[in-house]
Parts: sequence; C-alpha cells; structure tokens
Amino acid sequence: PPFTTLYQAFAAQAERHPAKALFELPDGRGISYAETARTVHRIAARLVADGVVSGDRVAAQVEKSPEAIALYLATLQVGGVFLPLNTAYTGAEMDYFLGDARPRVLVCSPERRAEYTGDLTNDLTIETLGTDGDGTLLDSDASCDEAHEASADTPAAILYTSGTTGRSKGAVLTHGNLSSNCQALLSTWQFTENDRLIHALPIFHVHGLFVAANMVMAAGASMYYLPKFDTETILDLLPRATVLMGVPTFYTRLLRSDRLTTEACAAMRLFVSGSAPLLASDHEAFEARTGHAILERYGMTETGMNTTNPYGGPRKPGTVGKPLPGVAVRVVDPETGKPLPDGEIGSIEVHGPNVFTGYWQMPEKTAAEFRPDGFFITGDLGRIDEDSHLCIVGRGKDLVISGGYNIYPKEIETLLDAHPTVLESAVIGVPHPDFGETVVAVVVPAAGGKPEESELLASIADDLARFKHPRAVRVVDELPRNVMGKVQKAELRKQYGDLFTGA
Ligand code: ATP
Ligand code: MG
Repeated sequence: PPFTTLYQAFAAQAERHPAKALFELPDGRGISYAETARTVHRIAARLVADGVVSGDRVAAQVEKSPEAIALYLATLQVGGVFLPLNTAYTGAEMDYFLGDARPRVLVCSPERRAEYTGDLTNDLTIETLGTDGDGTLLDSDASCDEAHEASADTPAAILYTSGTTGRSKGAVLTHGNLSSNCQALLSTWQFTENDRLIHALPIFHVHGLFVAANMVMAAGASMYYLPKFDTETILDLLPRATVLMGVPTFYTRLLRSDRLTTEACAAMRLFVSGSAPLLASDHEAFEARTGHAILERYGMTETGMNTTNPYGGPRKPGTVGKPLPGVAVRVVDPETGKPLPDGEIGSIEVHGPNVFTGYWQMPEKTAAEFRPDGFFITGDLGRIDEDSHLCIVGRGKDLVISGGYNIYPKEIETLLDAHPTVLESAVIGVPHPDFGETVVAVVVPAAGGKPEESELLASIADDLARFKHPRAVRVVDELPRNVMGKVQKAELRKQYGDLFTGA
C-alpha cells in the first residue's frame, strides 16, 4: 500500500502483524513490530515533552540498536527532522554539526554525554540512549501514538554527506524523497515481507537507514540486525537470510573465506553492492564461487538511489545499470549542460522524486548544483554504454589534469586491477612542476602477488596514451577507506603530494 511517511508505513505493518520480528539480534532475541511500536511511542512522548514541534531537528549520535531505529521513527511521527550523525565524530566535529543544524534535541550514548561541553549544547536538550534501551530517553512510560500530519514535501531528515570530497554538507530530504525511493526499490528488487535482510551497515548513512532499514520496515519484513560487518557472522546467517545489502568491502572480505560456497548461499536470492565501486574481479569471483551475480546500484545522500542493475539481469560488472522507475538520469557536457551522445564521458545528472530539496542553509551551493531545468549535478562522471547502462567513471573532483590533458583515474585503475599481482589500486593526481599535476598509482598486492613498478607499467603501456602513464607506483597493504568502503583519495593525495615537488 502507498504511504506518505516511513512512520506510516511502519505503523501499518505493526498493525498488520504485531507479533512478527522486525529485528533478529545476534544473541538470538527477536524484537517484534509491536514491541518496536511501543518503544517508538514512548520516545515520541519524550520528544513532545522536550518541546519538539514540527520542523525541529532531532540529532542522534547513537550506537546501532533497535531503539535507535525507534528514535528515527518517533522523530518522523512527531513531525521532527531526523539528523543522524556518525558515531566516530569527535567533540570538535560535533560542534560543527550542532552549530550548523541547530537541533532542538541531541540524543547520544550515556558514555558520550560527558564529552559535549561546548557552548552549543547550552540551549539544547540532551537525552541519552544506551544499546540496551537504558538512558534518559526511555526513562518514562508515557506514550504517544498520535502522528503529526505530514505531507510529501515536508522535511523528514537532514543527512550529512560522507565528506569524501570536502566538508560534509547537510542534505535536506523530504518524506516524499524517502517514500518514493523506498517504493521504487521495493518493486524493482521485488522485496516482500518474506524477505530476511542481513543488515550489517551503519545507520547514520543513507545506505543503512534510508535504503536497507526503510525497505524492511515498509515491506513488513525482518532483518538480522548486526552491530557491524563480521565475515563469520554473515556466513553463519546466509543459510537463513534472503538478501544482503553491502558495500564492496563486504564482498572482498567474504571472498577471503573458504566458507563462501554455492551451498552456503542456496537460500539467498539477492546480493546488492553500492556506496563505492565494486571491483570487477570481485564481481566475477563471487559469481564463480556462489552462482550469484552481485547487483550493483548507484546512489548518494542527496538523491537516495538513482540507478540499479536490473533485478532480472543482466547484471553487468562495471556498470550501475538503469534509472529506477520515476527517476531520470542523463550524462551531459559539464560546461554547457548539453546531453552527450552515448559512450562519451560527462557529468551525471539526476531528476525525480528522490532528489533532495537543497543543502541545509547553503542556498548558493544548492543553486550551483542544480540546472535551470531542475536536474541535480551529482559531481560524478560517467557514460552510458551500448546497452543503456550507466557506468561510473569517477568523481569530477578526482579528474587529473596533466599538461592540459584530462585523465580519468578509473581508466588506469581498471587496467592495473586486471594485473595478476594486483588486488586493487587507486590512481591520484599530485602536483608536478612541469605538468601542473601528474599521475601516481597506489596498489594493493593480490594474495601472494608482488607488484613491480616496471612490470606493471609495461603491462598497461600499450593500452594507455603516454601522458596517462603513472609517474610513480607505490605498494601498500591496504587503501585508506571509511566505514562505507569509500577510498579516501584526499588522504592519499596528502601522503604522496610532494613526490615531484620536493616540498
Ligand atoms: P561528499 O559528497 O561529502 O564528498 P560522498 O559523495 O562520498 O561525500 P555519499 O553521498 O555517501 O557521500 O556518497 C555518494 C557517492 O558515492 C556518489 O556520488 C558516488 O561518487 C559514490 N558511489 C555510490 N555508489 C557507487 C557505485 N556503485 N559505484 C561508484 N561510486 C559510487
Ligand atoms: Mg557527494
């Protein structure tokens, strides 16, 4: 059934099958829809008592627990705007987010409570929430089951971007953004109440909260709700689950285990990867080992999901498929905004009910990221292939310009990754006195492999114009990544930035 808010969607499922488990916890405990609804309503009463009214931000820097999801639902129920924050943020980072978002209430763990000492917290109500439901937020038994009337275009959440290319920006997402994207995914991936999702993602990011958790609750399904990714735990659960939504590193790690076999995955119907590029070698190895082609999809904080490989296939490695129903995706010339012919690399732009309304309190930045016809400029570069599938070529900000030539790191990375001694690579531009910038490759060895600079360069020489050849190759044990599996190229640029300048 259609719904305007995720709270409504959840409440309808709680009414329909109250006894069904929404959460399956690692200790074997199940937490039902009805029990979750009771927690939601107790938190809603508390938020109302704290003075939260429609449009107020409720910030949450909380560990992953069932109550944290209840807090999200309760915020929507009372008309608040949910603002999840990465649990890794330090006091100084929290000062930025709290100063920027000015929430009415901040919910944190009892352990973190003492760390918030800045001025910002003076006129802010601070509640605590522990992973076992302890803390001030659930102090009282008062309950509120009245829901605020919300419409599709009222804000439901502010979600800060991952900060891969600079300071995180708060994307304001409406109920319509969340609901339309959830409904499009439910139908496209044929997700139903019979699904049992393995949820091992953080819930302060679009992927774990607005893709994975929203889908489960709206469908009335169940989730194996894990504090974090752990290879052995996932392998234990595979025979009982139907869907895994993960980031590429999940698959890299699963492939290292002998326990990953066709038999182990017999009950599974869908493996999804997103938030960062999936290695083509992992895609192929996973299919060979399990019989499952990983379904890759592409999205971002500002838009939720944009494209997905078709559920019915083919799920082509290296592509992120086609737009979700109702979503328009185009590739245009970054300067002029004019559509490019298929095959040419350009700026990826998105339009649809999934696209956010703007960056929180950044009207100029917002205006600069939208075309006059309403398309959002994602900042990613891509091309449309011969089957009309979108291929992500990289981020606009990763483009290397060397001696006036444009170099797309992905092209070089793909060639390096194909070398038998290489597991994966990251190509960056670093300052160069003659060329402005030049190319450096950072590679991670494949198991038992020993990448040699001269051999690697020789292996790609025939496929790449000279100006694209890396001027240095560095071998590292692993690439710096954040929790969503995104390679932190800014960190690499810092590390290798003075290779050619001698600074
Ligand atoms: P910031 O905007 O603060 O620099 P971020 O863009 O990493 O950080 P997110 O919104 O979490 O923040 O990530 C969205 C980005 O992740 C996309 O714009 C794209 O660059 C990348 N991405 C997501 N899915 C894929 C995918 N399947 N393949 C390649 N890149 C992907
Ligand atoms: Mg971004």
